[in-house]
Amino acid sequence: MKVAIVGAGLTGSLLACFLARRGLSVSVYERRADPRVGQVERGRSINLAISERGLDALRRIGLVDQVMADALPMKGRMIHPVSGPLDFQPYAASGDRAINSISRSALNNALLSAASAAPGVSVVFEHRLVELDSASGRMVFATPSGKVSVSADVVLGADGAGSAVREQLLAEGIVAEDVDFLDYGYKELSIPAVDGEFALDPGALHIWPRGTSMMIALPNPDKSFTCTLFWPAGSFDALTTGAEVSAYFAEHYPDLLPLAPDLVDDYLNNPVGVLGTVHTLPWQAHGRTALLGDAAHAIVPFYGQGANCAFEDVVELDRCLDDTGGSWARALRLFEARRRENTEAIAEMALANFVEMRDKVASPVFRLTKQIEHFLERLLPGTYVSRYELVSFSTTPYAEVQRRVRRQHQALGASVAAAACVLAAAWRVWRRP
Ligand SMILES: Cc1cc2nc3c(=O)[nH]c(=O)nc-3n(C[C@H](O)[C@H](O)[C@H](O)COP(=O)(O)OP(=O)(O)OC[C@H]3O[C@@H](n4cnc5c(N)ncnc54)[C@H](O)[C@@H]3O)c2cc1C
Repeated sequence: MKVAIVGAGLTGSLLACFLARRGLSVSVYERRADPRVGQVERGRSINLAISERGLDALRRIGLVDQVMADALPMKGRMIHPVSGPLDFQPYAASGDRAINSISRSALNNALLSAASAAPGVSVVFEHRLVELDSASGRMVFATPSGKVSVSADVVLGADGAGSAVREQLLAEGIVAEDVDFLDYGYKELSIPAVDGEFALDPGALHIWPRGTSMMIALPNPDKSFTCTLFWPAGSFDALTTGAEVSAYFAEHYPDLLPLAPDLVDDYLNNPVGVLGTVHTLPWQAHGRTALLGDAAHAIVPFYGQGANCAFEDVVELDRCLDDTGGSWARALRLFEARRRENTEAIAEMALANFVEMRDKVASPVFRLTKQIEHFLERLLPGTYVSRYELVSFSTTPYAEVQRRVRRQHQALGASVAAAACVLAAAWRVWRRP
């Protein structure tokens, strides 16, 4: 049984590690050169927040300690208003749970090395998929020395949001896709270490909420921070000179200016990335060709869950192979049946979290709501659990998270209404002459 994985990003390399444990012959084809010996692409998100779902997958292949050795735990959000003091908001009621800032390239390299070392796995670089026959498993790759044709019994597309595998399935009329581009783009900036130390608190994810736009910053192991601006598409073009950039940031992000000596250079030279949600139906064809990770269901990054969700895909596909006795045709259908409602749920929650991060986190009402939520979590442990806790610190399926949070809100609403009725009745009795 020969399995081909297209894409050696986070999903493809993790998947190779899992499939190797089944004794399968796995070939991974990656369009880039080996990132372990080359340069990292500029402007691609440098770090990622990895939480429980991602850690769970890494634990299963024995890589969690290696990856976590360089991770920087972030226990809450640090809000930077235009003026006034910073405001730290813990993620968990206990205050001690954290999401982890991890270098994307270090994580990818660790997974690639584990995949390459696994028995039965070969990773081939500079192979870009350009043709696919999903019924026969025949693939054509463009390589520096010309086109190469290969075939496999199973083809798994882990080639990211702009997936060539998905494109081929679309061209064959097998899948339908709906890509909702967000009318926002992103650009990365950097805050270097100051005298060998972090310029900001490394124990938090920093947010500069500005209503219709925002900036975030995550710490890196070299004590720098990577900032990401999320601005309405097109608005990046409004600042074209160094003076304009400096003046704009002095007005809207005043505390960033002294910390970011390369601000103008970063702003004028780093690319603007696009953001969107990919919906694909179905994810598999002929029981032998399938999509997973961003190739099947890319989401916007505002819950920090894209890679976590993709890792969970790999765990679920592995479980489906167990549950179907290794039948790929049945496992791929089962995988889609089990995962779809969950990936739709996190896509929805990720979009909703953008509004929360860019707009609501700065408001006193939001802060009070979070304090009440944490109070309820302490008062009713295990009974009331916040959405953030369930998404980031558990492996509860995303769709179940949505249902549970809805039930909790209904129960809370009913309790408040009942309490109000009792109080109103008591008031009437007390007032009666
Ligand atoms: C700004 C930003 C911030 C993010 N932050 C977070 C975060 O904090 N936490 C989180 O969990 N997620 C985050 N994400 C999402 C996360 O980056 C993705 O979900 C994750 O990278 C998906 O992994 P993947 O392997 O499916 O796709 P990719 O990482 O895109 O990898 C696809 C691979 O396929 C290769 N490839 C593409 N086309 C071909 C081809 N034709 N032939 C061969 N190979 C090909 C590519 O070179 C690449 O190596 C963020 C995303 C963005 C944009």
